[in-house]
Amino acid sequence: MQPFKWAPKEIGTRHRLGGTPDFIQDNEWPTCPMGHGRMSFYGQLDSINDDICIADCGMVYVFLCFDCFSSVAIVQSS
Ligand SMILES: [Zn+2]
Repeated sequence: MQPFKWAPKEIGTRHRLGGTPDFIQDNEWPTCPMGHGRMSFYGQLDSINDDICIADCGMVYVFLCFDCFSSVAIVQSS
């Protein structure tokens, strides 16, 4: 996979499983769409390269409800 040509070095390496999300914008913590309350942060996926870039080097954040296994994905970009 081709790396980024112009983006800062860390872009493309910010993937994470578990822990806490590195929100680019404001904290945007979802609640379960089935009514189970605050969801658990599952992981974040970075933009991949110049061809697969989420807006302006953004990321996808995935949240999961461990009661019903609904998932919510949020995109943030600088
Ligand atoms: Zn739920």
